[in-house]
Amino acid sequence: MAVMATETKPGAAVPAPVATNGGAPLPAPLPTPGGPPNSWGLGDGQAIPWEYAPAPESREIVTIRERYGLFIGGKEVAASDGLTFTTIDPSTELPLAEIAQATQADVDAAVRAARQAQSKVWGKLPGRERAKYLFRIARLLQERSREFAVLESIDSGKPIKESRDVDVPLAAAHFWYYAGWADKLDYAFPGRVARPLGVAAQVIPWNFPLLMLAWKIAPALAAGNTVVLKPASTTPLTALLFADLCRQADLPPGVVNIITGPGEIGMALVTHPDVDKVAFTGSTAVGRKIAQGIAGQGKALTLELGGKAANIVFDDAPLDQAVEGIVNGIYFNQGEVCCAGSRLLVQESIAELLIAKLKDRLSTIRVGDPLDKNTDVGAINSRAQLDKITELVAAGVAEGAELYQPACELPGRGFFFRPTLFTNVAQSYRIAREEIFGPVLSTITFRTPEEAIEKANNTPYGLSAGIWTDKGSRILMMVKRMKAGVVWANTFNKFDPTSPFGGYKESGYGREGGLHGLQAYVRLEDR
Ligand code: NDP
Repeated sequence: MAVMATETKPGAAVPAPVATNGGAPLPAPLPTPGGPPNSWGLGDGQAIPWEYAPAPESREIVTIRERYGLFIGGKEVAASDGLTFTTIDPSTELPLAEIAQATQADVDAAVRAARQAQSKVWGKLPGRERAKYLFRIARLLQERSREFAVLESIDSGKPIKESRDVDVPLAAAHFWYYAGWADKLDYAFPGRVARPLGVAAQVIPWNFPLLMLAWKIAPALAAGNTVVLKPASTTPLTALLFADLCRQADLPPGVVNIITGPGEIGMALVTHPDVDKVAFTGSTAVGRKIAQGIAGQGKALTLELGGKAANIVFDDAPLDQAVEGIVNGIYFNQGEVCCAGSRLLVQESIAELLIAKLKDRLSTIRVGDPLDKNTDVGAINSRAQLDKITELVAAGVAEGAELYQPACELPGRGFFFRPTLFTNVAQSYRIAREEIFGPVLSTITFRTPEEAIEKANNTPYGLSAGIWTDKGSRILMMVKRMKAGVVWANTFNKFDPTSPFGGYKESGYGREGGLHGLQAYVRLEDR
């Protein structure tokens, strides 16, 4: 079954976010080039439209329990008042499990367990011993990678091919990488002695649940800190499976503690008086609240917040390659990516051609069941996020942008949104200014490099950017003038544990990854 592509002119009503076939006609059969009947046995000179057969990944490798407790001091415990909340599968809207809802008393207990473990055990272990645990965790993550990938896709809605090929391997890579630093802290910062900060409070979002956990926990542990981590309420399951992995790795009790609960519990955790270091990834609004909440407490703080990255395509760029980079930049993980290339800046002379190629490419994107190995775009993480995307897309149309959505059938249930491309976007439109955090691309044109730089930097954010051009000198000139923490050239969304990641302006401060990421978890003293 097929659905017709949608083009909406400014001011028109926006198509419903969840579209089903609705009896739309199949596209006309394509004529076979060359005249004579083809050799595939069709015989009538016409090719038939074809689709991918379903290729579902088995769920059997994962056991989802009915209830999960908190992981404190190496043990699973119920919340002190027994309350729970439900986590659901965003692709079906069906409940998955009941999760313990931590209280202030549980936060106190988790911080206490982390403090004891840090001062009595973990902080005293030689680096080479800490490294052994981190290597073991990395190896176990690899051994159990399919289990983690399937669970991540079920709980978050992301396509299995991304959780399998990106999230889980990168999470393991972070543990491998930081395991290597644990016994080399004396060489990491020449002339300085690196001491652990103590107890780290870490609050992570729902877009890369396991990967963000790895970004936070691996450098903290390598440097001799212990942690209390709070995952997002919509995606707690892989963090709780990680708790199981910590036990399997024989990690001393209290080194890693995982508490689940709403935003207020996140705030109670980061403001806890016995926490030394706070690391947060999420929205700029919450990042701001956290910075205010801990002001004056003397805690170290890193914030990795939102973005509105420009992906800039010059007229000498390899266009087909650029199209792949644009698609990867904004439709990867449903666009729920802080560094997503959500603003396409294209040189005016090639805009028409590039947009035509992009629309062509969008028609091949498959949206649907996150566990299907052919799915490119899975489910949006939550109803609230789907509503936010829908609202911003409607605002784009109302403000005068031209909307294009490819013909793709969406499942009748779950939180799905069609890949969306806006053209004729003015910089003042909300879709050009606000972080949508969905599969929505806003196109803006420019004539000169100067204009491209001005428009790219015209945002309160400064997390990432992309540049597509044939000229190395132009790349260097642009990189120098972009106000963004990461700039990719002729590629996009490339990550590596050795390379620091972080933003400027309202995208936060501090770096994660690489030596910079390690530095965020140590106190440097003179030798
Ligand atoms: P949040 O920033 O609210 O959530 C991120 C994490 O912070 C979650 O663990 C959340 O817990 C927790 N949290 C929420 N409120 C507080 C608080 N007051 N103090 C401490 N911790 C808190 O993101 P949302 O889920 O609300 O998403 C809203 C928007 O934020 C998105 O549309 C997107 O634009 C942006 N975002 C950006 C991300 C990024 O990586 N840059 C990641 C996620 C969202 P809980 O889940 O229990 O609410």
